[in-house]
Amino acid sequence: MELVSEDIQLLELEEKFISLKSASGTHSPSMATIQEKMPEIKIRVDACFLSNPYATELFLGYFNKELLETNEIARVLEFYPSQNSVIADLLGEYLEIDPQKIFVCNGAIEAIQAIMHKFVRGKAIINIPTFSSYYEFVNAETEVTFYQLEKENNFKLDPARYIEFVKREKPNSIILINPNNPDGGYIKYKNLKFIIEELSGVVENIIVDESFIHFAFEDSGLELKSILHLTEKVDNLIIIKSMSKDFGIAGIRAGYAIMGKEKVRALLSNGYLWNLNGVAEYFFRLYTRPDFLKRYEVIRKKYIIESLIFISELSKIRNIKAYSTKANFVLIEILDGRTAEHITNVLLIKYGIYVRNCSDKIGLKGEFIRLAARSNDENDQVLAVFKELFE
Ligand SMILES: *Cc1c(COP(=O)(O)O)cnc(C)c1O
Repeated sequence: MELVSEDIQLLELEEKFISLKSASGTHSPSMATIQEKMPEIKIRVDACFLSNPYATELFLGYFNKELLETNEIARVLEFYPSQNSVIADLLGEYLEIDPQKIFVCNGAIEAIQAIMHKFVRGKAIINIPTFSSYYEFVNAETEVTFYQLEKENNFKLDPARYIEFVKREKPNSIILINPNNPDGGYIKYKNLKFIIEELSGVVENIIVDESFIHFAFEDSGLELKSILHLTEKVDNLIIIKSMSKDFGIAGIRAGYAIMGKEKVRALLSNGYLWNLNGVAEYFFRLYTRPDFLKRYEVIRKKYIIESLIFISELSKIRNIKAYSTKANFVLIEILDGRTAEHITNVLLIKYGIYVRNCSDKIGLKGEFIRLAARSNDENDQVLAVFKELFE
């Protein structure tokens, strides 16, 4: 078979992309990195990053009007932002949580690192597949035990089986991501509450990452169902919340964690004084404002509905399986014999669609990619390409 020049170019680009990816460790190279290092690739849709694009637009509208047009940005850039505890006070009032229990962080990743380094020791149970930072950031005194979520069971956590496993393994800490990344599996409020009640006396730390909770719902009103307030009764419950995905602002690095007061004190006595930048502080001030939140609720629900339609259309395509999800992304298994790596490269290089190749995810047997829902227009482009590629 003779290779035509288009194939050769595809292969060359594929090789170049593979080496760029291996330089990014367990996280995918960002769109900006790809554009910088491989300008020959034209990304049309970034379905790798898991954010709500309408939320970014909403934030930008406020940012332009209140910081740029007024030149208030000069003050934000010139002076120090507020200290951690000042922003915690603000959040505490809005969340109705004791501010002394709030650790504001430079992206949730900072809280994950701090918690895994300082408070988790001994055995930690982590469900797989998962967000890799949880097992990568453990300290030298921690041994990680994986709890496998079964693909035959749609990666659903069975509460009774999980509780039994934890009671048998007697770990120091357990980690639950709800909805889970990368599969979008969701533990219902009542089941998660039951798990926490059953296990709060058994383990030292129950860590729940609710970074995708704004995309999940249990009723037709699409209302948010966070377990945040269980921290009032359960002192060893730690909630981790990234603002990057559901508010579409990964670039400004904003997140928070709720935990016991003594833990927050231990972290703050040892650093993190000015860990938030001025723009992130501006975001947190917006996050507590009724006018912003009212608009946010509208686009949160709009995005959920559009994502549901997109994912249901995707799941009709032959030769792939879309796993059920309560997040803004979907885990897709490739069933036609091609590898996830190949599909990822073809999607990017030939079609300009960037998805997450999941072949490095521990606990995923098979060929999987993860795909985020974007705006309607972008979703339509992705659907058309998937139909062409798989049918
Ligand atoms: C992306 C992600 C984070 C990290 O978010 P940042 O706030 O951007 O640091 C934490 N947890 C999960 C499950 C994530 O997917």
